[in-house]
Amino acid sequence: MSQNKSNDKFHVAIIGGGAAGFFAALSVKQHFPFAKVTIFEKSNKVLQKVKVSGGGRCNLTHACFENKELSKYYPRGENYLRKAFDQFNTSSTIEWFKKRGVELETLNDNCIFPKSNSSQTIIDCFENEAKKLKIDVLIQKPIVRITKNENGFELKSLEEIFLVDKIIVTTGGHPKLSNFDWISRLNHEIIHPVPSLFTFNMPKNPVSELMGIVVENATVKVESTKLIANGPLLITHWGMSGPAILKLSAWGARILEEKKYDFAILVNWLNNLKDEEVLQILEKFAEQNQEKKLVTFNPFNLSKRLWTFLLQKSEINEENRWKELSKKSLNKLINNLINDRYPVKGKTTFKEEFVTAGGVSLANINVKTMESKVLPGLFFAGEILDIDGITGGFNFQAAWTTGWIAGKNVLSEN
Ligand SMILES: Cc1cc2nc3c(=O)[nH]c(=O)nc-3n(C[C@H](O)[C@H](O)[C@H](O)COP(=O)(O)OP(=O)(O)OC[C@H]3O[C@@H](n4cnc5c(N)ncnc54)[C@H](O)[C@@H]3O)c2cc1C
Repeated sequence: MSQNKSNDKFHVAIIGGGAAGFFAALSVKQHFPFAKVTIFEKSNKVLQKVKVSGGGRCNLTHACFENKELSKYYPRGENYLRKAFDQFNTSSTIEWFKKRGVELETLNDNCIFPKSNSSQTIIDCFENEAKKLKIDVLIQKPIVRITKNENGFELKSLEEIFLVDKIIVTTGGHPKLSNFDWISRLNHEIIHPVPSLFTFNMPKNPVSELMGIVVENATVKVESTKLIANGPLLITHWGMSGPAILKLSAWGARILEEKKYDFAILVNWLNNLKDEEVLQILEKFAEQNQEKKLVTFNPFNLSKRLWTFLLQKSEINEENRWKELSKKSLNKLINNLINDRYPVKGKTTFKEEFVTAGGVSLANINVKTMESKVLPGLFFAGEILDIDGITGGFNFQAAWTTGWIAGKNVLSEN
């Protein structure tokens, strides 16, 4: 059993050795150098998600420097984070890593990675800092129960009990409600967790024969809902993926779960062109290319494979000439170009990347400090909170922001 306040130091326990846990631990030492800080990690390795993040490159934030705009990338937690970003935002993240010698690079899509292109750089940075600041990192120490006592808290891990003054919980997200039982026992409300960031399965749909095709600007709607997203769309061997689909899965995480991942989408392959506009373009093109075969040219720069697929889906012989296109066929083609319906059955994770929508209710947590309003002395940060972003570095940014705030306030008087 460890002793409380050994050497008159305040003991802060960080539960969970992931992104938010390390950032919170480093923030505690930055703001309270005298504090004793211990990270309790249940598995035998810390920072495992950082390691595999961004395909092993770690997309650690996004070059968006307006807090209001940045918060719009979070389907859950927008208003809450807008306030939190006043304390620590993208610029703070860049500055934080720069100060610790980590060079960063912004790609064309505004995603920010370490210049080394390796997540190991981030892990090394965290582990070296933790060592320098004498933060204890204990692995294989799952915390299964927290109990408040007169002076602080008692942490139970398997056969051991640890006495600490303050706690920051950073155990990450989990799509199973039962995984949050130990937190709900402390009277915190848990917003039902569901998976976010997934791709759509379209079993046996002939579209999967077009696997590998990317349409740079497509708009996708979920039928009979208001869900709509646009961006690059990738056709895969199991269905559809790419930023447009991932965004839709994030904004629709809850609705799609209610539908048990059984729904239909409508794809506009021409971004947001309307039917009259498409008609005009097609009529003009037909007029100018009367003798040419339909299959050889299309006015939309669609790949030949996709164009042929859409012609066939519209029951048009692709070997016909443009002048042979009947009014009825034209209408069918327009419908398939801008309102192309695909049934979806099931989901698949995208490169194993996923986050949890739901978690500890933000109503229970003071945004200025990340302290629980239900149990003072207990703080939360990272994906365990009911916060999640779309892909692009936003989930790590939320972990840095909430971790930093929790660390800054964990031993404050007020
Ligand atoms: C494959 C993949 C790739 C990703 N890529 C990106 C990306 O490039 N950019 C981005 O922004 N986001 C990315 N994400 C999301 C991002 O990794 C998470 O949002 C982020 O790691 C959350 O940090 P966290 O510290 O809150 O939780 P986690 O990183 O999940 O860490 C939680 C830690 O707590 C430990 N733990 C859990 N329960 C206990 C317990 N009871 N006691 C002790 N320890 C416990 C866990 O073992 C874990 O080590 C990716 C996610 C995945 C799965």
